[in-house]
Amino acid sequence: MQFSELGLHPFILKAIEATGYTEATQVQAQAVPAALAGADLLVSSQTGSGKTAAFLLPSLHRLAEPSAVPGNGPRILVLAPTRELAQQVEKAARTYGKELRRLRTASLVGGAPYGPQLKQLAQPVDIVVATPGRLMDHMERGRIDFSRLEVLVLDEADRMLDMGFIDDIEAIVAKTPESRQTLLFSATLDGVVGKLARKLTRDAQRIEV
Ligand code: AMP
Repeated sequence: MQFSELGLHPFILKAIEATGYTEATQVQAQAVPAALAGADLLVSSQTGSGKTAAFLLPSLHRLAEPSAVPGNGPRILVLAPTRELAQQVEKAARTYGKELRRLRTASLVGGAPYGPQLKQLAQPVDIVVATPGRLMDHMERGRIDFSRLEVLVLDEADRMLDMGFIDDIEAIVAKTPESRQTLLFSATLDGVVGKLARKLTRDAQRIEV
């Protein structure tokens, strides 16, 4: 399937074109239209499937229009298990969002110095990519306002649970608006992941590739 058939904003299509990708991968072809329609998603997909773009493209699409809610907090929050993955996701967001007017991203990850993160949080931000522990740390100090949050993404949810982040994830989600869209990606959707997914999503569409 061509990217131009998925319903994405021309700004996003232009950025994809610049990457040289021609066809959407299977997970992108299924997840992007469903997410653009506003559905919550439970997606089982592996690394290498193109899952990062599958959740970033429809989320970034929203940023082409201004937020209806005033404030400086993120409109998109991506939770990822590791610093390396979070940093890759932030980099991809800058690539796919480069045609949007002044996209502001922040990476709030453990094992990285606080200075640059505090600087990023002192300014308005559109997308926050975070590991759960460090995000909690900032939240407990009142540094993040989720009143503008539109999309919550859990990337590699199974790995986040394996790493013991369940309590942090639940505490973070509790602070986000109920009106949010939730996109959960995981290698497996069974067992504890399935239980968490049922708790965090509403009428979710299940996609398995
Ligand atoms: P991911 O599964 O998100 O880790 O992506 C795996 C790799 O595939 C990344 O290096 C992406 O840049 C690349 N990629 C994502 N979407 C496409 C696509 N539609 N066509 C070709 N490569 C892609």
